[in-house]
Amino acid sequence: MTNIKPSLLDFTLKELQEVVKPAFRAKQIYGWLYHQYVQDFDDMKNIPKTIKEELAQKYIVNPLKIVNKEVSTDGTIKYLLQMQDSKTMEAVWLKMKDTQFDENGEVVQEAKYTICVSTQVGCKVGCSFCLTAKGGFTRNLTVGEIVAQVVTLKRDNEHKHNRMINIVYMGMGEPLDNLDNLAKAIEIFKEDDGLCISAKRQTVSTSGLSNKIDQLGAMDLGVHIAISLHAVDDELRTELIPMNKAHNINSIIEAVKRFPIDTRKRVMFEYLVIKDKNDDLGSAKKLVKLLHGIKAKVNLIYFNPYPGTNYDRPSKEDMVSFADYLIKHGLLCTIRDSKGIDISAACGQLKEQSKL
Ligand code: SF4
Repeated sequence: MTNIKPSLLDFTLKELQEVVKPAFRAKQIYGWLYHQYVQDFDDMKNIPKTIKEELAQKYIVNPLKIVNKEVSTDGTIKYLLQMQDSKTMEAVWLKMKDTQFDENGEVVQEAKYTICVSTQVGCKVGCSFCLTAKGGFTRNLTVGEIVAQVVTLKRDNEHKHNRMINIVYMGMGEPLDNLDNLAKAIEIFKEDDGLCISAKRQTVSTSGLSNKIDQLGAMDLGVHIAISLHAVDDELRTELIPMNKAHNINSIIEAVKRFPIDTRKRVMFEYLVIKDKNDDLGSAKKLVKLLHGIKAKVNLIYFNPYPGTNYDRPSKEDMVSFADYLIKHGLLCTIRDSKGIDISAACGQLKEQSKL
């Protein structure tokens, strides 16, 4: 049986300074982890051998291995990552904006990227449109396994540590169902001596566990939230997301109103548009009413059919009419590009294929 060890990526700098003495060595190791993305103790050149040998007995550097990679023509890269216990999960590298050049060919603005991070292997929520749900729940990811996704993807894309990146906790799993590990990972990403990714660049996307939205709010981490609303009446929402029975639309909206939101920011509501289910103007009207009084932005997402699903992709016309209605009634609204449409882009698809 594999000897499973904790990872150095489980630690905040303060915690590492309790493990590694003197403290400046811990800081140097933090630099190797988050500025050089080293994979091995041997690569930490200025660290004494005795310290490295001692650490190597108890810890590993990075707990993830890339086992598959699908590259889309739009720059999206979907990774299948394997952990020490051989379980796998996904993380996605999304290109949000291309590099901008001036007339002399000089770079005026670097390309912008977002990393979509998983928080669990499988998921308990059981959304009917989701392939991850079909595999059931296996386990929570550790702090190190959450952190390692960003380190691994930045390393693989040669993305320097001080280049800006956004994180969305929107991969496999319900992030708020693994709240303690998520909260610690958020703090590690924020470390000035690490990746220095501010909380405002991190968005927690939840299927709407209203009590946990309150708990996350009470932690006052400064992160954004995105709510996977998807429906405007409880009957359809329960069909799509069965745990809506315990956390209905009203309880979610109330929890969002209590959440500490940066006044300059908006709460993102994800709305997965499914043909003949929730793509009509009646639904758009209800959505406007529901979000009244919330500084909200609605992200309309095309449903991407996959083999075995009973749902269909909406027409472009219906999508545009829906968006127009929201905009005319004062909501900010975007239609999400189907990033990675030529690869398996729905949550859980790459993992499912790997079983074939
Ligand atoms: S969509 Fe997200 S919350 Fe719903 S089952 Fe899939 S992974 Fe879980």
